[in-house]
Amino acid sequence: MAPLILIVEDEADLSLMLRYNLEAQGYRVLISESGDEAAEVTRDNVPDLILLDWMLPGLSGIELCQRLRLRKQTADVPIIMLTARGVEEDRIRGLQTGADDYVTKPFSVPELLARVEALLRRSKPQLVASALKAGDLELDRASHRVYRAAREIHLGPTEYRLLEYLMTNPGRVYSREQLLDQVWGSDVYVDERTVDVHVGRLRKAINKGRAMDPIRTVRGAGYAFDERFAASVS
Ligand code: CA
Repeated sequence: MAPLILIVEDEADLSLMLRYNLEAQGYRVLISESGDEAAEVTRDNVPDLILLDWMLPGLSGIELCQRLRLRKQTADVPIIMLTARGVEEDRIRGLQTGADDYVTKPFSVPELLARVEALLRRSKPQLVASALKAGDLELDRASHRVYRAAREIHLGPTEYRLLEYLMTNPGRVYSREQLLDQVWGSDVYVDERTVDVHVGRLRKAINKGRAMDPIRTVRGAGYAFDERFAASVS
């Protein structure tokens, strides 16, 4: 699944230009025109990175940054702030408030894209890695192939996305609802039981003849990629 980037910027020309360039790099993009809107949007959709303009109407960039840092789900989301030229004070305050990096306007698009990539690589290496490896399981994003103990496993498209999503955050428990949103898409209506059916198929395919199941069922909560499996030596 492509990383999700939230742009918080009130200048429509700038946010559209950024969206165009980020989508061309394969990222998914959301835009909020104000800090208040972004505070709301991030309740349902936790982005993988935020581009945050400092000068916003209503809730300012600094205030939004502080709020996001205080909220458990967004406390660690990498933030790049966009500041006006020469406002040194903003930059320092921004970094103190919890932004990870900053870019001064007007900025070069290739430079911004490079910073986005570098920050994602640093904060979420699993998200941008071309292959995910855990125990004796390997998922190759470029070829969309999955291997267990070096033998290829054939998965349906939904099982592939499900495995990719779970492998991105080993140990983290996802509810059926979260998995439906992230793997099937929030605009698709399917019953939560569907998740169980596909997890069952995925397990059957990857565990054939093997004792160790990389997927953990957490009663009353959902599913997780077992971090002990991820740590096991293949
Ligand atoms: Ca602005």
